Amino acid sequence: MSTPHSTPFTAPFPSATIQGYPRIGAQRELKFALEALWSGRASEEDFLAASRALRIDTYARLRDAGLNEDYAIPADGAVYDHVLETALTVGVLGTHKEVSLAEEFTLARGNDAQPALEMTKWFDTNYHYLVPEIADGAVFIPRPERTLRLVEEARAAGHTIRPALVGPVTLLALSKQADGATSQPLEHLDALVESYRTVLAALADAGVEWVELTEPAVVADLAVADDATLAQHIAAAYAQILGAEQRPQVLVSTPYGAARAGLAALADAAPEALHVDLAVGTLAQEPDYVHRVASLRDIHLVAGLIDGRNVWAADLRTLRNTLEQLGDAVSVSTSTSLLHVPHTVAAETHLPVDVAPWLSFADEKVAEVVALAAGPLDAPEAYAQADRAVRTRAASERTHDAAVAARTAALPAGEVQRQPLYAERAETQKSLDIPLLPTTTIGSFPQTQEIRQTRAAHKAGEITAAEYEEALKDEVRAVVELQERLGLDVLVHGEPERNDMVQYFAELLDGFVVTDNGWVQSYGSRCTRPPLVVGDISRPRAMTVEWSAFAQSLSTKPVKGMLTGPVTILAWSFNRDDVPLSVSADQLGIALADEVHDLEQAGIDIIQIDEPALRELLPLREERRPEYLAWAVRAFRLAALDAKPTTQIHTHLCYSEFGQIIEAVAALDADVTSIEAARSRMELLADVDERFYSALGPGIYDIHSPRVPSVAEMAELIRAALRHFPLERLWVNPDCGLKTRGYAETEAALRNMVLARDEVRATVSVTV
Ligand code: GLN
Ligand code: ZN
Repeated sequence: MSTPHSTPFTAPFPSATIQGYPRIGAQRELKFALEALWSGRASEEDFLAASRALRIDTYARLRDAGLNEDYAIPADGAVYDHVLETALTVGVLGTHKEVSLAEEFTLARGNDAQPALEMTKWFDTNYHYLVPEIADGAVFIPRPERTLRLVEEARAAGHTIRPALVGPVTLLALSKQADGATSQPLEHLDALVESYRTVLAALADAGVEWVELTEPAVVADLAVADDATLAQHIAAAYAQILGAEQRPQVLVSTPYGAARAGLAALADAAPEALHVDLAVGTLAQEPDYVHRVASLRDIHLVAGLIDGRNVWAADLRTLRNTLEQLGDAVSVSTSTSLLHVPHTVAAETHLPVDVAPWLSFADEKVAEVVALAAGPLDAPEAYAQADRAVRTRAASERTHDAAVAARTAALPAGEVQRQPLYAERAETQKSLDIPLLPTTTIGSFPQTQEIRQTRAAHKAGEITAAEYEEALKDEVRAVVELQERLGLDVLVHGEPERNDMVQYFAELLDGFVVTDNGWVQSYGSRCTRPPLVVGDISRPRAMTVEWSAFAQSLSTKPVKGMLTGPVTILAWSFNRDDVPLSVSADQLGIALADEVHDLEQAGIDIIQIDEPALRELLPLREERRPEYLAWAVRAFRLAALDAKPTTQIHTHLCYSEFGQIIEAVAALDADVTSIEAARSRMELLADVDERFYSALGPGIYDIHSPRVPSVAEMAELIRAALRHFPLERLWVNPDCGLKTRGYAETEAALRNMVLARDEVRATVSVTV
């Protein structure tokens, strides 16, 4: 138990709050301000003014929406990433002097002289943070002025905000060792906590009465530390932080799941307030969590009842019951930051009329928090509206399609297995006449400015559907011709018709809706517009056959059909909360199986089903991973289940650390699997053993950079792959799709790739 702080702060914790709000702006103001600055169209002053205006505007909107108590509005001050912002504030990055805006963006984006910090996913969300690097003997020089400026700026506009930083345990748990370091980041916890104490003291001096430290590390089983170890770190760090004489009151938050040992450790450390994630999804996984939280004594609870990362209108009455179980004087909040949802449903003008009332984006969720805190007597209209949404959604034919239910009910339960097994299929597929060390690409070819403009013109009604189709066909012709010229063995149509590999299918499947303005920050200035799974999923008609068949008609070489897999479609969408994900996954599996069948009928012999997001949905808790992998693998296998033995099924995954799920990737039972491998220089193939019985295409060309790899370089990577993997089952391909590249570099790189393959093939056929 820590000694209480000496500063007599008395501001109570607000009764209603949130854990964070979208930073990007309702009109994506931050995105455009960043891009104007980076391109030199705007000055640093313009940028600072724009980002300040956006923050102040947000505070005013939140206050008007009912977050009108002091410290109800959290602020992280991030213009690029909140992990980067905290790292700069506590001196984990840029310790030499105060980091300028330009240097901050260099850390985030890199330049010719300095690579960018690595980027990775923030817990199990689609947000990417920058990974701080910690060297041996690191010193942390606190930079509280960053947060003080934020506080002053808000004050000047009449707002008393709650500064929010990533907590020290989470910050280190998510950092990585700098190159050559022998110490683990968490070994630096004591030193880092000193820096937090200085920052907090400065905030207290400035009269700040509440700060928030977010510690989601305690809800995950991380590779760097297990639950018990993290809890010990929490105990040590917060004894120091809360024992400081001069500090504001501290809210510790634990979004993204249920804390276990960490919950008890935090309760013992006794911050002035503790936030817990009580979202529907969290409680479904850990049903006794409400009970465990309710039994904590002497701590002000902040109940994260409104789901911060999904888009469904809350069942206010049920949540109000849960709130009452937690005791009196409990504050209400969101389960996570609202960073993960779009700004407002009000910006959507094309949603189906029955669906719109079911939805709740950031602004609607703020209203829900306020209504939940107020109670049904004070906010009767909000509760009545919530009741209607819950009732109409549950009864809708959109959510429960009898035909879909009949088809999934007829499926075998558990594991499904394509017949015959790989060895026999591989024999049969020799009829495809594919040469040794076959060359192919991952699917997309450069999405030129011209294609984008044509798509926009079509959407705006400026050109007819027929004109649009002609333009796309011209593109397919050019792509096929290019591949023929380069001598690739298995061709693709290039995917010019796809705006996005998930949205394209979502627009064609029943059970999804797409938004006009539902932008969500992915990282920095980059946003995605995830589709929404609103009900049972089915395929009204073929989705890709026309394009693949057209491309095949242009060549005697095989053209690969190109589908996005069930797990990836779900991972990059907002999902239902009324059925388990595995239900939607089965439905997608069947829909894709129908597409596979139609492609076969149209004469397509090779079909790729992309699953780049297979690892992204991996649960944060270890014991839940086998169950997830089981339904994920099953959904993929359903898509391929009835494929003819002669049909060669490919899959594609991209990220380098696939060691964690290598067994699941093998279990997909694809005939050919392409993976990202160039940047790790084939190192990951060391993990590949007999478990990987089928063919493999480790990428030999990093498509993330415009650099054209030389023939020698790629030949060396093929040889490196051959040291781990048999010649007869090795494919030659880039790391991923080429849609972000330009044509000049793509053509040069693919030419070198084919030459590298020829060079290696010439030597191996001599020695074999
Ligand atoms: N077929 C897709 C493409 O080439 C795969 C993209 C991905 O893996 N992210 O664009
Ligand atoms: Zn990829």
